[in-house]
Amino acid sequence: MGLLENKNALITGGSRGIGESIVREYVAQGANVIFTYRSSADRANVIVEELNGNGRIVKAVQSDASSYTDAESLMKLATETFETIDVLINNAGVTQDNLMLRMSEEQWDQVIEINLKSVFNLTKHALRPMLKARKGSIINISSVVGVFGNAGQANYAASKAGIIGFSKSIAKEVGSRGIRCNALAPGFIATDMTDALDEATIKAYTDSIPLKRLGEGKDVSDACVYLGSDMSTYVTGQVLSVCGGMNV
Ligand code: NAP
Repeated sequence: MGLLENKNALITGGSRGIGESIVREYVAQGANVIFTYRSSADRANVIVEELNGNGRIVKAVQSDASSYTDAESLMKLATETFETIDVLINNAGVTQDNLMLRMSEEQWDQVIEINLKSVFNLTKHALRPMLKARKGSIINISSVVGVFGNAGQANYAASKAGIIGFSKSIAKEVGSRGIRCNALAPGFIATDMTDALDEATIKAYTDSIPLKRLGEGKDVSDACVYLGSDMSTYVTGQVLSVCGGMNV
């Protein structure tokens, strides 16, 4: 029996990287999953075909996390498909790195809208069914960069720091209704997002990580299983770092 048997989860940005790993691990642990993507329709369909079956529901939906109306329609579909939403994972995110003097308004706005406004959009719409069911776990994917900052990533760091303040506030607002909200702060996880970095940068990061390796999607998805499962029923308002000790 899996740790998420019969739980229903909604996961944004599940077509690649960390999100794909979360989708796969959630289904392996017994959950039904609806996940979103922005443009990777073929890839999302392959994941659905691979995971559907064994009595589990797995659906992929094209939905822009930065759009309030897309979030509204997505939640309508989710509540028509599932009786309750047990777990919401706000994972969709992008980078648009640049030094502050060169950063355009568009780069700032895009990162804040996709990384931070998305968390408001999805949480706002998921709270109603969760309040009705008097249970739910919201997991917001932040970053160690949101805690420590990073040169060239002021937009990204601000969006990820915003997620932490948001998560702590929601935990206080709805804790009395049985709903938990936590932020997860991955360190350096090997995905398409980090593929853009050159070898020297990757080596410098690896050398500075106490566990001396980059993280994998599974490292983050295992932590998401914990926060979404009944193993963490007394854990809310926290920032769980999954970073190989990068933050010590
Ligand atoms: P990734 O490999 O680039 O995948 C991003 C995922 O988000 C894709 O599924 C993408 O969909 C989706 N997405 C992007 N914009 C979207 C939008 N507007 N609406 C809906 N979906 C959207 O990224 P990743 O490395 O797995 O990162 C996942 C999360 O972890 C992000 O929030 C990121 O900030 C955070 N994180 C990553 C690292 C790291 O080292 N990788 C470290 C700390 C935190 P498409 O495939 O359709 O484009």
